[in-house]
Amino acid sequence: MTTTIAPAPARAAIDSFIHTTGSWVASQLDACTRCGICAEACHFYEATGNPEFAPVWKVELLRRAYEQRFTLTGRAKLMLGLDKPVTDEDISHWSPIVYEACTLCNKCAMVCPMGIQLGPLIHDVREAMAEAEIIPADLVEAVRKQEEIGSPLGVTDDAWVDRIEWIADEWEVEIPIDVKGSDTMVAFTSIELMKFPENIVAIAKILNAAGEKWTISTPGREVVNFGVFEGNPDRVKLFMARLLDSAKELGVKRLVVTECGHAYDLLRWTAPNMVEMPCEVTHIVAVIDELIKAKRITLRPGAFDEGGTITFHDACKIQRRGGHIEEPRNILKLLAPTSFKELDRCREESVCCGGGGGVIAIKEADPLRYKVFELKIRQMEEVGATRVAMTCANCRLQFTESLQHFGSPVKAVGLSHLVAEALVEE
Ligand code: SF4
Ligand code: SF4
Repeated sequence: MTTTIAPAPARAAIDSFIHTTGSWVASQLDACTRCGICAEACHFYEATGNPEFAPVWKVELLRRAYEQRFTLTGRAKLMLGLDKPVTDEDISHWSPIVYEACTLCNKCAMVCPMGIQLGPLIHDVREAMAEAEIIPADLVEAVRKQEEIGSPLGVTDDAWVDRIEWIADEWEVEIPIDVKGSDTMVAFTSIELMKFPENIVAIAKILNAAGEKWTISTPGREVVNFGVFEGNPDRVKLFMARLLDSAKELGVKRLVVTECGHAYDLLRWTAPNMVEMPCEVTHIVAVIDELIKAKRITLRPGAFDEGGTITFHDACKIQRRGGHIEEPRNILKLLAPTSFKELDRCREESVCCGGGGGVIAIKEADPLRYKVFELKIRQMEEVGATRVAMTCANCRLQFTESLQHFGSPVKAVGLSHLVAEALVEE
């Protein structure tokens, strides 16, 4: 049998693939019938028709490495020249495919007749790319800033305190910091802090109106986890520990993730399988729905029925994966009973915004993410939307930038912001 000695990046990636491939990965790869159904579910494929963006193709290197190392068929195919070894060129070629043309939304898994979890497998491919150090430079920089400074946008401790104080003063809202014994710790994103401060104001107003004992945390100030986007398990744990240790230190009963889909996915579903959780984790949209139902806050019914059609964008990780599908609808049906209209593909079927999974942080991905956003533009035009509400700040950034890019008059708004605007003071 010919042994192929791959040069460094491919060697590192193959080692990672082999290391990753336990029984679960093997069973997923073996189950694939190559039917191609997953392609139709991927917004990158739908928007471009590029066959390299088909989800099953994104895991091709992982498949090759697995089959050639662990299966007789794979070895035979390699010997007979029916399959190719993974090369340095392959690693360089696939890197933009898995970093720029995949938001890790996992919608492809929903349609796969074999139930294959493509999103996590593509994440494994990113891990191999990270091992091979073939990662988009913008992601490397964001990761460095989060590791060294504490925020992927480079917000230092002092800048964070200044910004929070400015927000509290400017909007005259109380924002408790590092209050031990609070019931709830709220973790915001740098995107909210720097781009959408009104989200922080809105959530503070809602929690204050409800009489919630809540706080934010200085050491646990960043909910985003760029280790996930990069595919580096050590940094995933490091950034996650900053939050969970802070929650433990403050003695809170629950950690509320505000507007970050992947952070919610990580903390709500993945973290409990990795570490002992100090408290419950939930999303702000669930908290708001709960506060309304418990009559701890009162909203003006129909507050947004004027001003045209309002629609809702389901975030992949908060609605489809997170399960918070009904809560935003309960809220919107209260705030806009006649002007709220659903997009044609919504709820679990929602089309991803195209900016998640770190894609929005990669400059080279801009043309592609705008191209993908044309799908959302068409959807919004079909229902005649003038406003689109959402529960993820990353989605909102993608909407805001893309709507501006296309000169669309539709306005992207945070759902928390609408709720705060409709609060009835008692
Ligand atoms: S839909 Fe599932 S079985 Fe079909 S090609 Fe995609 S991953 Fe393989
Ligand atoms: S996870 Fe989402 S973006 Fe990635 S391949 Fe699947 S459908 Fe496409």
